[in-house]
Amino acid sequence: MSENRRECLQDEALVLHVKNWQTADKYAVCFTKNNGKLRFIAYGARYVKNVQGRLLQPFACLNIEVQQGQKIDKLRSCELVRMPQGMDVRQMAYGAVMAELVAVLTEDREPQPELYDLLVASLATLVKRNPRLVTLSFAIKLLGLAGFAPNFDHCTCCGEAVTGTAQGWFSPAQGGYVCDKCRTIAEEPLQSCSSGALALWQWLATLDYDNPAPFAVRGGELMEVEHMLYTFIFFQTDKQLNSLNFLNQLGL
Ligand SMILES: [Zn+2]
Repeated sequence: MSENRRECLQDEALVLHVKNWQTADKYAVCFTKNNGKLRFIAYGARYVKNVQGRLLQPFACLNIEVQQGQKIDKLRSCELVRMPQGMDVRQMAYGAVMAELVAVLTEDREPQPELYDLLVASLATLVKRNPRLVTLSFAIKLLGLAGFAPNFDHCTCCGEAVTGTAQGWFSPAQGGYVCDKCRTIAEEPLQSCSSGALALWQWLATLDYDNPAPFAVRGGELMEVEHMLYTFIFFQTDKQLNSLNFLNQLGL
């Protein structure tokens, strides 16, 4: 296929990740409104006067035009929709977790417009509310949209319905809840899933950023949810997230 017959697409995109490429170029990963995740090279983007290079920065929202290439796509043009919001280091560190989760849990060119809307809304909320809770809520909703939601309705061993009143357990390998009775027959180490942690998970899964339902978040339960969530994601993707290491380094 000749170059000009290859598909060219235009879309609104949120920049997830940018890195330098060869001597003068940049490599970018974006999530688009209508075409899912796109990865491309912006040739010449590292030259000082290059406009694309200046616009291509994490969390910027751009209108992009991307030309499909034989090995990798290339950016033909881009224009600014809106600059990234001003964020402090903590907000940026959590934003990086969101961006990396989208990058690892989605496939190239698989349209997921609901996920695009969720990402835009979550990044906007990050600077207005507790970024740790917003990121957890985003991650839990993302798992649902990506088809990886863990099962908290029934015990993954015996199938009994989860009442949410007793101490329970979580198995990243089984992909969900294990009741106290099945704890002894589980073949791998389980994590604590207290009734409070379960309630917190469910609250985060349906959290309305603009009108959050009242909920008392307790530190221990928050840590249980984070532990379940991030080990489950590690189990699903087999990848250590760089952004989580960065959060740990910041002591967050
Ligand atoms: Zn059971």
